Amino acid sequence: MSDCCENKPVQKAESASCCGPAKTILLYACSGGANVAEIADRAARELMFGGQGSMFCLAGIGADIQGMVQTAKDADVNLVIDGCPMDCARKVFERAGISGFAFLRVTDLGIQKVKGIRAAQEQVDQVVAKAKEMLPGPC
Ligand code: SF4
Repeated sequence: MSDCCENKPVQKAESASCCGPAKTILLYACSGGANVAEIADRAARELMFGGQGSMFCLAGIGADIQGMVQTAKDADVNLVIDGCPMDCARKVFERAGISGFAFLRVTDLGIQKVKGIRAAQEQVDQVVAKAKEMLPGPC
């Protein structure tokens, strides 16, 4: 049974809908070179294409592009996904003075950081599933 809002992207709405005002949900991944960073990146993209939010450029926050920093500050929800305990994305957010973000670390899900291997789809699926638990659900 579907409702009026099923499969709608969870992004900023210009007006209220039957579900109330849509939330702006932004997704960031560390997107580094390691397998766990690839997992973070692919998970963020899958969440975006699944209508869970919009992936946004972490590098722009790191580069102190003021419009992009402000966009993050204005979002209803920022989900930051790091690959490993180096927490590069989290630190970028903290240095930019952006607080109150949701945070997910790939290695916390039991996925090992290994050099020179590709991410497996089931690992990406695992991160996507965890992220969905953390994000506001569809109305
Ligand atoms: S958090 Fe870990 S995996 Fe991600 S960019 Fe930093 S060192 Fe690489």
